[in-house]
Amino acid sequence: MAPTIGFRILARRIRLKLVITPQTLPDIESANVIADIKGSEHPEQMIVVSGHLDSWDLGTGAIDDGAGVAVSMETANLVQKLHLKPKRTIRVIAWMNEENGLAGSKQYAKDHEKEWMNHFAAMETDGGADHPLGINIKGKPEVKKMFAPVAAILQQSGAGMLSLVEHCGADIDPMEKAGVPAFSPIQDSRFYFNYHHTAADTLDKIVPKELAENSAVVAVLAYALANMEQPLPR
Ligand SMILES: [Zn+2]
Repeated sequence: MAPTIGFRILARRIRLKLVITPQTLPDIESANVIADIKGSEHPEQMIVVSGHLDSWDLGTGAIDDGAGVAVSMETANLVQKLHLKPKRTIRVIAWMNEENGLAGSKQYAKDHEKEWMNHFAAMETDGGADHPLGINIKGKPEVKKMFAPVAAILQQSGAGMLSLVEHCGADIDPMEKAGVPAFSPIQDSRFYFNYHHTAADTLDKIVPKELAENSAVVAVLAYALANMEQPLPR
């Protein structure tokens, strides 16, 4: 029983000496992983669907952010499986080095900043794998109104909330700053910080059904964005 032990330790006034040996090693070359499902009408216009590939070295990074990468890959898988034809390109990105300086995101921004007008929208899933409640939106208030029909579809699975926010994801920050409308699933975060950045961030913390619910939200949103008739206000 943990509490009893805790009281005993307190009663005995244990002294701890911690030897901590962190060091910063030189950077090595690595890469973002990017895959496109080409749009049928506007292949040059991009819907970015993303998570980050790296994790802290303590755990395996299952919820931060293996889940986000899985959700993004599953979005592409669902589009293929259901034989959907997105009009714009759905670009899946697994970002490298979110945790230690955002090198992958910064490099992508360098490589593509002249194409921001063709980045129709950007999404990142980086809040774990628990039940989704809806969609965060970083954009003009009108964008929220435009997504009411999408929210109505998602409401059937309890994910019908639409919330205007200031920020949707660290890796998509350069796009947000350039005015690209950004999105992320609103996720139940009650347990996320119990495991986040610790050795306990392992696959057993993920409930497959809830992970799948997140994929459904991101896939519905990505497809809606890819096939919208009108552009989003910036
Ligand atoms: Zn993360």
